[in-house]
Amino acid sequence: MSEQVKKIFGIDLGTTYSSCACVDEYGKAAVIPNAENQRVTPSVVFFDGENIVVGDVAMESSKLYPDDVVSFVKRSMGEPDFVFEHNSQFYRAEEISSYILRKVVQDAEYSIGEKITDVVITCPAYFGINEREATRIAGEIAGFNVRQIINEPTAAAIAYGAAESSKERVVLVYDLGGGTFDITMIDIKHDSIEVVCTGGDHNLGGKDWDDRIVANLVRQFQSKTGLDDDILEDPDTCQELQLSAEKAKRILSQREITPISITYGGERVKVELTRKKFEEITQDLIERTIALTHGILEEAKKKGYETFDEIILVGGSTRMPCVVKRIKEEFSVEPKIFDPDEAIAKGAAIYAWKLSINDDLVKRIAEKTNQAIDNVDDTAELIESAPEQLVKEVTKQMADDIGCMLPVLQRSMVKIKNVTSKSFGIVVRNPQNEEMVFNLILKNTAIPVDVKRTFYTAIADQKTVLVRIMEDETSEETAPPEQSIEIGTAVLNLPPGLPVDLPIEIFFNINNEGRLQINAVETSESRSVEIFIETRSVIQGDELKEAKSRSKSLVVH
Ligand code: AMP
Repeated sequence: MSEQVKKIFGIDLGTTYSSCACVDEYGKAAVIPNAENQRVTPSVVFFDGENIVVGDVAMESSKLYPDDVVSFVKRSMGEPDFVFEHNSQFYRAEEISSYILRKVVQDAEYSIGEKITDVVITCPAYFGINEREATRIAGEIAGFNVRQIINEPTAAAIAYGAAESSKERVVLVYDLGGGTFDITMIDIKHDSIEVVCTGGDHNLGGKDWDDRIVANLVRQFQSKTGLDDDILEDPDTCQELQLSAEKAKRILSQREITPISITYGGERVKVELTRKKFEEITQDLIERTIALTHGILEEAKKKGYETFDEIILVGGSTRMPCVVKRIKEEFSVEPKIFDPDEAIAKGAAIYAWKLSINDDLVKRIAEKTNQAIDNVDDTAELIESAPEQLVKEVTKQMADDIGCMLPVLQRSMVKIKNVTSKSFGIVVRNPQNEEMVFNLILKNTAIPVDVKRTFYTAIADQKTVLVRIMEDETSEETAPPEQSIEIGTAVLNLPPGLPVDLPIEIFFNINNEGRLQINAVETSESRSVEIFIETRSVIQGDELKEAKSRSKSLVVH
């Protein structure tokens, strides 16, 4: 690609594995291998004295040094109470994730011989505001310019659409990874990829299947030896069982039975697990994914999508034969296993490429139309308002300059339309003076979206209004506060002497990237107050500065 187009890379920051991908001049995405010449890197971080080790070595080290190793950190993104302590230093999930990002990017840089500065990172569709912000901050701590956080199923659909671009169709993306489950309906058209609705479970993934195997192994050990010790209390045995369980699960995707050995208290016991037994002890987990899939189908019906054409499977855990079998049985379609390990990174890379092309196109159109690029607020508007002929000429010139075929470039211009995965509202009091959450934006609303609602002060001469910003899973306008999580608060100071029932206008805006902005207007003097959300859930302020400077002085292997 020419020097004019700044390359942006796609990163799949997975619960269990991560990878980095980019697009070549033919518009084809490829995953870049890591230093160990593997296409995915375990998302495992080993605090080895002064060194940070990420990947295979970290995963192996978890057997010997379980207290110095962090796995599945993605499950803790945006969690205010998660900290990992090492050598009296406390690390939040964002910082630990930043080491994973650094490892995959620095290995990619080495492999392609180029510096990587700008990235697109993927996250599960159901990630809320805090988890998304934590993902963005992880990228910032790692020193990257995070251009966008995009949803994993959207990325998978982009990769799928790019690979099989001929047909328009509605697909269900069933994404079962290491720690998370996402189910998303996507409408793939010639010129757009539109998310219809999305749902999932933050805490349902391959790890849960592993845990069931571990529990079964403990029972088998106890019945074989007659001991009723809780062998998981021994950290070495526990760690070993976790790793053996994951291995056994993979073997059972290929074979009907696998032997497993368990070492405890100097004793080594050999047991077996059959696929039949494995499927029996994990049946309820698969049923949960089926129930969530039905939930999404119901949601889609409300938007006029009565049916779908295909189910595509992504995420490593869809390799379990029970997934295909159960889906076929339930929905009478043959699910397509689509590049389970790489689809997300490749889709992110294609999206990143699209951003690069868009940046360049905007620059060129701004030049041709004599507009200063810094004054352009809405780049989509700039392109849309430019004469069609000019856009055509500029696109053709771009294709020539960057040495890429025109149809490939045009294909990169498909529009991506997304929805919110949560509902967002504020805490208000109902006429019975009870607290409840009033949702201004409902889950699965197409974004970008702007909403304005008017609320009223409770007493005369009210000094302040406390705006508690909430996130929840319901599709209803109101929700009980205990079923919502507070993602931030803001205080609106009011001038003295105002009457009761003063209207306060609250504006919620979610932009294309899924970022929430809130504004309040006190109507007596039409004073607009920008609300900066304060949250404990992500690193900010001095803590963020410290994490960034710590990161600069650390070497990640
Ligand atoms: P992902 O987050 O998409 O990288 O998926 C990782 C999960 O897929 C982990 O829980 C793995 O144990 C699981 N996985 C990978 N390969 C297989 C396989 N052949 N059979 C069953 N599970 C697998």
